[in-house]
Amino acid sequence: MTALSPPAIADFGIEPELARALGRLGWTLTPADQHQPVRAAMVPVERIANAADLAVPVFATGRQVSFDQRLAALRAGVAGVIPLPASDGEIIAILDPVLHPRPETADRRILLVDDDPSVLLLYGNWLERAGYHVFHATCGAEALDALERFAPEALVVDLTLPDCSGDELARLVRQQPHFAALPILYLSAERRPVRQGMALSQGGDSFIVKPATADTLLGHVGAALTRQTQLSGLLSRDPMTGLLNPVAFRRDLQQSIALAQRACTPLSLALIDVDHFKAINDQCGHPVGDRVLRRLARHLVAGLRHVDLVGRLGGEEFAVLLSNTPGEAAIRVIDGLRASFASLPPETRLPDEPAQVTFSAGVVRWDGVEVGEHLLARADTHLYAAKAAGRNQVKG
Ligand code: GH3
Ligand code: MG
Ligand code: MG
Repeated sequence: MTALSPPAIADFGIEPELARALGRLGWTLTPADQHQPVRAAMVPVERIANAADLAVPVFATGRQVSFDQRLAALRAGVAGVIPLPASDGEIIAILDPVLHPRPETADRRILLVDDDPSVLLLYGNWLERAGYHVFHATCGAEALDALERFAPEALVVDLTLPDCSGDELARLVRQQPHFAALPILYLSAERRPVRQGMALSQGGDSFIVKPATADTLLGHVGAALTRQTQLSGLLSRDPMTGLLNPVAFRRDLQQSIALAQRACTPLSLALIDVDHFKAINDQCGHPVGDRVLRRLARHLVAGLRHVDLVGRLGGEEFAVLLSNTPGEAAIRVIDGLRASFASLPPETRLPDEPAQVTFSAGVVRWDGVEVGEHLLARADTHLYAAKAAGRNQVKG
């Protein structure tokens, strides 16, 4: 496995300001008529019809984009709109969810709560046929227990249960901070709007009236999970670089370890730290330091695979988790990224930036049993060795 070349974006004649920003963020633009393989297309909003039948995600861009233009872009199927002027952070926030979606790490789990076995059977079957993992509970007490044990991503609950009402269960769930954002959907024969409204006000997200069709049930559940995924994606990001924040990285690291354990596949971790970063801040100023961090972030994302996790653990320290990769291959990949970052072409830099920025890295292979924190600590030891040996190098 080697570092990939930077992803290219087809350019349909966008403003130079945006072209420069994309260059800074690690993308290569290629004229739209070159018929090269590209990952996406960037089209001035007034020319959006030209790009409607492209096989890659299309982004519209322009100054003072009107409602009519946005609507036309939406109907043409664009993946996003970048209104100018836009900061690097705003561009990242629009492009990243489309071009670097977070890898799916787990099957989607639904907890279905109803005391009527025929309801559990019918609606549970529909959900299972749509690909969900369904867990059953027949009362509130069982539901709370199942929430802890199965960590479902949505709760579908009847309004009348043997030991409590559905809205009481919703309130019990919401009282626990780690379930504050869990989607709760009522599935009930209750038809009185006042009663439905009251139940929703107690912590539910939507109300599905029984008997419901499969389309209605799957539509409600799908919409709730999509919104949930977007929200947790936003909460997982470091706002400056768009990478995973420390909490999200550690959580995903632990999840990847569990997956590797089950699948008996190798896993490698790299800790990366910019060399003499304090001097860059001191000599060029903090905003330039920030720009360097963003560029390193883009460089890592562009050079790694979709399935790899890239996080910013703090200041100028980054972490990369390479799934299904043994230690030797990981060292090669990270060292390739180190070499290409140290020799970035001058045109990708602004004049006030240092001529060369380098980083050091420590790489370790997961030993098959250790937890994430232990893996991080071992990588840190190697990073320290790389610094001590003179920086701009990878130790493993
Ligand atoms: P070494 O080669 O040993 O890693 O030296 P260093 O100067 O890179 O390391 P040190 O830990 O001494 O300095 C890190 C600096 O990073 C200090 C801190 O002010 C700066 N820093 C931390 N977070 C940010 C940030 O978000 N933006 C900028 N511009 N600077 C930051
Ligand atoms: Mg440093
Ligand atoms: Mg440091």
